[in-house]
Amino acid sequence: MAEPGEDAAAAAAAAEQPEPAPAPAASTKYVLITGGVVSGLGKGVTASSVGVVLKACGLRVTCIKIDPYLNTDAGTMSPFEHGEVFVLDDGGEVDLDLGNYERFLDVTLTRDNNITTGKIYQSVIEKERRGDYLGKTVQVVPHVTDEIKQWIQSVSSVPVDGQTRPADVCVIELGGTVGDIESMPFIEALRQLSFSLGKDNFCLIHVSLVPVLGVVGEQKTKPTQHSVRELRALGLTPDLLACRSAQPLIGSVKEKLSQFCHVPVENILNIHDVPNLWHVPLILRNQKVHEAIIKQLNLGRSAGPPELRDWTQMAESYDDLKNSVKIALVGKYTNLTDSYLSVVKALLHASVACSLKPSIQWIAASDLEDATATSAPDAHAKAWETLKGSSCILIPGGFGDRGISGMILAAKYARENKVPYLGICLGMQISVIEMSRNVLGLKDADSEEFNSETPSRVVMYMPEVSKTHMGNTMRLGCRRTFFRRTDCLTSKLYGSPEHVDERHRHRYEVNPSFVAMLENAGLHFVGCDESGKRMEPEPASTYEQVVELQDHPFYIGVQFHPEFKSRPRRPSPPFTGLILAAAEYMGTPANNSNGHVGTSE
Ligand code: GLN
Repeated sequence: MAEPGEDAAAAAAAAEQPEPAPAPAASTKYVLITGGVVSGLGKGVTASSVGVVLKACGLRVTCIKIDPYLNTDAGTMSPFEHGEVFVLDDGGEVDLDLGNYERFLDVTLTRDNNITTGKIYQSVIEKERRGDYLGKTVQVVPHVTDEIKQWIQSVSSVPVDGQTRPADVCVIELGGTVGDIESMPFIEALRQLSFSLGKDNFCLIHVSLVPVLGVVGEQKTKPTQHSVRELRALGLTPDLLACRSAQPLIGSVKEKLSQFCHVPVENILNIHDVPNLWHVPLILRNQKVHEAIIKQLNLGRSAGPPELRDWTQMAESYDDLKNSVKIALVGKYTNLTDSYLSVVKALLHASVACSLKPSIQWIAASDLEDATATSAPDAHAKAWETLKGSSCILIPGGFGDRGISGMILAAKYARENKVPYLGICLGMQISVIEMSRNVLGLKDADSEEFNSETPSRVVMYMPEVSKTHMGNTMRLGCRRTFFRRTDCLTSKLYGSPEHVDERHRHRYEVNPSFVAMLENAGLHFVGCDESGKRMEPEPASTYEQVVELQDHPFYIGVQFHPEFKSRPRRPSPPFTGLILAAAEYMGTPANNSNGHVGTSE
């Protein structure tokens, strides 16, 4: 008797046809960015900058970030270890590099634009269970590598710029450093892809480091030589090198790199240190990165010379800014730009639009707490001095109870002293807790996240999401917020629309039972979602999304994360509002002549 599955196996064996590889997306060409020598070279910025230059030539660009870790997505990863979790319109929780791409290229990506080993294996294992490979031994080559190729080709054909046809170029950034064990299946898949597509459809840029030894030492090429050798041993030869260095590379170093790395000297690009990251596309343009790529990929007919006038003006005007604005960022992590990257970028966009340089004052929320006054008096005093010396206060999103009391103290300080305040997600929930405790007198007011026993659960768990699973159990992605009045400050900042679409990432909401009391105390709930569907045990109600404090020059809390949609030339309105209010608070005229408030939607 045949064993179960044998018939199918026989049938599969009889057919013996390897699954046909999907036809390459005819029009989309690929630029792969790999990295060597060390991590943290700025491959993401290099990849987005190459995209900016190609886009400036009139080409339509999409991008993919490959993260070779086993997590399905970045949602369960610690911002402390891995940097912020970026959230997309479709609710994808992705690597922060996707934020760089969205900001630099002004595109809207999908969760599928972030490929992880976890996603690839999940898909392969699902197919195996479904019987798609019946009769076969499922292996890294060809099954995993085929899955990677199919994923790349299918996602690169999805337009991300609002148009209908696939992009001309897909920039793929391979995370990690060449030679890492975990990226091997990706390297192999990309090698196969480059071979099957041919040189005029696939261009490889290897990002490397040229260090200098000693104070007036030599620029060293050996690390780059080794990493290119490693890459070539795996079957991939770079077409361009992008060498990171402190100072511009000297000519003879380029020649040496060319000779030993098998890359034409005109294709050796140099990304030396620059005053701000917006210069990176400009230095790449100056070195004619577009000409090399366009020539190799045969895109001459669709591309013109790069038009980067606006971009240049933005990069240069930032360098010239004289006045700065001190923003107290009161969070769980401090001095970790990457943990709050989109907030930092949104502050940058808004400040530059107001002709101010953002000066972020990092304050560890726990340092503001009374307990720190006895355990570490210096840190406590310094934290309060910094808070009091700032022109505005921002409490960003966060999870877990560390530093919550300190955040409540900061919100109280902002409320009582009329310091401009923006609370984002957790920051809005903090405002509600603070007002409940200190104005309504509900001493035990808390969020269910920090105290599930309290009778004054002013912030409560959303009943529709799982309490036992951490991955993908939040209200995530783009949701509509309706303003109750278009003449409230927040709506006005957006240009007085009736609603805005912003991205969310949270499990808890303001408890509707306390809204009326808080309203009476002066905290106005000016925006809500469309639900009105919360049933038992709470009365039917809408979810509150925006609070504004009356009799305060600028005190706003938003349940959504406006930072994710901020763009260099289209700053997020709540951030612009905060900076304008801060400028007024410190008596520095802000020049918002760019008229950025109200243009984000
Ligand atoms: N921890 C809070 C919640 O889950 C806030 C989340 C956030 O700030 N992103 O609702």
